[in-house]
Amino acid sequence: MPEKPKAGFYNLSGCSGCLLTILNCEDQILDIFNGANIVSFLMANSANIEKDLDIAFIDGSVTTDEQEEFVKELRARTKKIVCLGVCSCYGGVQAMEYEKNTWSARFKKVYGTKPPTITKPFESRPVDAFVPVDYYLPGCPIDANQFLYNYARLLRGLPVDIPKTPVCLECKWRENECLLLKNIMCLGPVTATGCNARCPSVNLPCVGCFGPADEGNLTSEFNLLKEKGFSFPEIERKLRMFGGVKFVNKFKTMWKKVKK
Ligand code: SF4
Ligand code: SF4
Ligand code: SF4
Repeated sequence: MPEKPKAGFYNLSGCSGCLLTILNCEDQILDIFNGANIVSFLMANSANIEKDLDIAFIDGSVTTDEQEEFVKELRARTKKIVCLGVCSCYGGVQAMEYEKNTWSARFKKVYGTKPPTITKPFESRPVDAFVPVDYYLPGCPIDANQFLYNYARLLRGLPVDIPKTPVCLECKWRENECLLLKNIMCLGPVTATGCNARCPSVNLPCVGCFGPADEGNLTSEFNLLKEKGFSFPEIERKLRMFGGVKFVNKFKTMWKKVKK
């Protein structure tokens, strides 16, 4: 019988909701733990051993020098790194002000002016700002079914398979009435799909929690929302909330072309 892949699950800065989503898969939890040799999973195991890994799953973003050192050390002993959730993939909600130079002021407001002594904190960044990442499973939190499907693929040595299309595609498949027609700001046209259009299917607008879709047309979404009376800061703020660093980097050039 072939040896099971060695896997580890780690959390950095975030709410750990992505790892919790995995632990909440009650019907599949035994298969998750039987499918791999899980050597480290702090939220589930007390006897964790740090060793060379086939796959490391990371939830949370990098916000301290200690975490930066950890992801570099983990990368050096791991074949495949998989980011779980928008914190790990794009910096998360905590990166929504990325490159606005507001981090120090926000930090002082929460923690005061006394300099930190244990670790050196900095503005939240995704894991791939420090080390190469092999695969991304976005969402806030990740979608359990998307995780289970891709976990099974990874254990067989197959690459992660996630759609590049926006939420609107799944929304149309579910035959929902479009919220944009009711002048409600919906980010479905520029957000990565994978959640089965969960929010618009219950009449709530998509707020972009799966981050930017590779095939989303941002210029067109901007223009459409502006036509509906939303201001540039309102739209930008909404897009930054979960899209974070990926949103800012991906749309930097296009951004300048959008008439404010
Ligand atoms: S992506 Fe969302 S659910 Fe996952 S750790 Fe970050 S804040 Fe929590
Ligand atoms: S409701 Fe939102 S997700 Fe659905 S089709 Fe309209 S814009 Fe797209
Ligand atoms: S519809 Fe949008 S906000 Fe709702 S779960 Fe899907 S990606 Fe997230």
